[in-house]
Amino acid sequence: MTLVVQKFGGTSVGDADRIRAVADHVARTRRAGKDVVVVVSAMGKTTDDLIRLASEVSSVQPPREYDMLVSAGERISTALLCMALAELGVAASSFTGSQAGIVTDTSHTKAKIVDVRAGRITEALEAGKVPVVAGFQGVSTDRDVTTLGRGASDLTAVALAAVLGADVCEIYTDVTGVFSADPRIVPDAHKLSRLSFEEMLEISAAGGRVLQLRSAEFARNHRVPLHVRSSFTWEPGTWILEEDVSMVEEEAVVTAVVHDASQAKITVTGVPDKPGVAARLFRTLADRSVNVDDIVQNASVRGTTDISFTVPRIDVNAAVEGVSGHLAALGAEGVTSDEGIAKVSVIGAGMKSHPGVTATMFETLAEEGINIDLISTSTIRISCIVREQDVERAVRALHRAFELG
Ligand code: ADP
Ligand code: ASP
Ligand code: MG
Repeated sequence: MTLVVQKFGGTSVGDADRIRAVADHVARTRRAGKDVVVVVSAMGKTTDDLIRLASEVSSVQPPREYDMLVSAGERISTALLCMALAELGVAASSFTGSQAGIVTDTSHTKAKIVDVRAGRITEALEAGKVPVVAGFQGVSTDRDVTTLGRGASDLTAVALAAVLGADVCEIYTDVTGVFSADPRIVPDAHKLSRLSFEEMLEISAAGGRVLQLRSAEFARNHRVPLHVRSSFTWEPGTWILEEDVSMVEEEAVVTAVVHDASQAKITVTGVPDKPGVAARLFRTLADRSVNVDDIVQNASVRGTTDISFTVPRIDVNAAVEGVSGHLAALGAEGVTSDEGIAKVSVIGAGMKSHPGVTATMFETLAEEGINIDLISTSTIRISCIVREQDVERAVRALHRAFELG
């Protein structure tokens, strides 16, 4: 029998009507003769509200308690959806991440999945039930509740789809698919009908919120077919599949323009230009679980250099404190942070064989009078760090320049 994992994001289960609409869709899928595993996010802005509440209660938020708090949102959605399904005569059982067998490491607030022991999910399916799993959470090897990082209900869904060998993992959200740019910023962005895992991964890595980064990685590594689509219109969305010959032939040079305003830039000044210093600097950050993204080292002048890199804004304090504590050991002068930056990226598998994309990107930004701070590239992506207030203008101009409208 066909097995489908269906994941519903926060807006998709935002109120009672939405939950009933989701239940109706799950019931239809069952009636079409498919097995369904459902993964849900917290309702609407519940997670944000819980995080705000925590900061109103205390300036000290032990990570274990933070996880206990924010994991509650998803739990509410599971029980409500099961009730809505019961009313439609569909047998369903709710599961927390722990009950669903999502086992993680002990790094609270951004735990990594180390194992999926989906025995109870399989049993529920065999009993003819619809398992409804709380996304975004797991249980650590120390038996504490953990969460997997913002947006990580996608990851729960993809991990379960991989382990259960699902035919497809459907990601239901508030847009009709993955677009050539965030449709909220570029109204004439177009829906991409099909993407390769590599392109999706680059879009997520560049900050395209529509699919959480680690879930894109997981889908690529385990070849889980994804279908990103709308829970409002239910129309076909974007398929994310293995790249095949037909895709290569029709490959666009640039597929999408993506932006990310969730990062900050850290600059370490007066770093001695000798072997081992950069290694020590980035080990310090790794020890604090700070994810470093782009890194740029300037040419050295009189034996010292500046190193700049970007980190998620939520990690700025950890990064600055970490580096400050090691300035003497590193022999560096100082460390500064800048939260007023954003990244704009152009992505396309066709870039590999088409020169000139970089030139067009830089010319377009120049024409808009937008200054480029840092530049980084992969084989199918070019990213520029610009001022945050310029980023939406940059996205629109690049979307036009590469004729994606
Ligand atoms: P959910 O709560 O369903 O997980 P998210 O807010 O995480 O939804 O992701 C959906 C949002 O991603 C959309 O509302 C859209 O604004 C944003 N987005 C950013 N880039 C893109 C893109 N390239 N294509 C589609 N949506 C995008
Ligand atoms: N509710 C969590 C968040 O807001 C997880 C998710 O929505 O995927 O980050
Ligand atoms: Mg999301």
